[in-house]
Amino acid sequence: MNIWILFKKEYLNESHSMRRFCEEAALQNLTVSIYSPDDFDIVANDEGARSIHIKGKPLHDLPDCVIPRMGAGTTYFALAIIRQLENLGVYCLNGSESIDLAKDKLASLQELAVNNVKIPKTMLAKMPVDTKFVSKEFHFPVVLKRISGSQGKGIVLCKSKEQLYDTIELIDTEPNLIIQEYIKASRGKDIRVFVLGGRAIGAMLRKAGKNTFKANFSKGGTVENFPLTPELEWLAVESARIIGLECAGVDILFDKSGYVVCEVNSSPGFKGFEQATGINIPKVFYDFLRVRLGVSAA
Ligand code: ADP
Repeated sequence: MNIWILFKKEYLNESHSMRRFCEEAALQNLTVSIYSPDDFDIVANDEGARSIHIKGKPLHDLPDCVIPRMGAGTTYFALAIIRQLENLGVYCLNGSESIDLAKDKLASLQELAVNNVKIPKTMLAKMPVDTKFVSKEFHFPVVLKRISGSQGKGIVLCKSKEQLYDTIELIDTEPNLIIQEYIKASRGKDIRVFVLGGRAIGAMLRKAGKNTFKANFSKGGTVENFPLTPELEWLAVESARIIGLECAGVDILFDKSGYVVCEVNSSPGFKGFEQATGINIPKVFYDFLRVRLGVSAA
């Protein structure tokens, strides 16, 4: 199997996931190449592989599979590269449309809601903020989020309507923000389920570090293995399917009467996940790819 991974070069040295993909590939004698979107030029023509240029040279052979690993940071340019590869018949784990949808927190929550998956009540902020409407619809505190982002960046807990309006005013350069119900029962903790190829691989409980309500591992939170119940499995697999993702990190909040889905990530990091669950994630990727692409084990 000839596998490409698309990743932003500037983060390569510090990326646990990239290191693990390469380590496991070496153990399994797989050819894995890591490219950054800016290595590419693409031309919309009918020249097949040659419509893709890498570092200025036209391509001769397409890879068997591409794993985009840029998540919410996937640019228009990177999406166009993934689309071109898909159009040429290359299997992309995940595809461009689902990555684009997952990047948009509101659009993906809309999809989940319309498919009966429980989510925190969420609205798109309108400028100037309609104070009456927000106060009527939400109890404080509320969570204010950028429409796109990851690792807990661009998310603020607003304890009062004054704080909400002041915060929105302060960041008035941000075009799209969502206002979301704060799920109190989940204060400082959530569950991350890793989904691959229609299966829930495992789950971990994430607990927030000091001075934050965000349970992101990258924000200093702690992680531990969490039992995968049928309900969690269904919620996660169904959420990934609705967004169209074959690989997903589904973040689930504890609610009074069960669970609500907070977010579906298209490129979940797995440092904390491997630590918590002991699951070898790159191995699961490569095992799945062999099945998906009909390649026998070496
Ligand atoms: P990111 O994509 O940056 O991780 P999330 O929307 O997943 O952003 O939020 C980060 C963390 O903040 C979540 O994992 C969760 O711990 C907490 N959080 C986010 N939204 C809510 C909410 N509505 N209620 C309670 N906690 C939340």
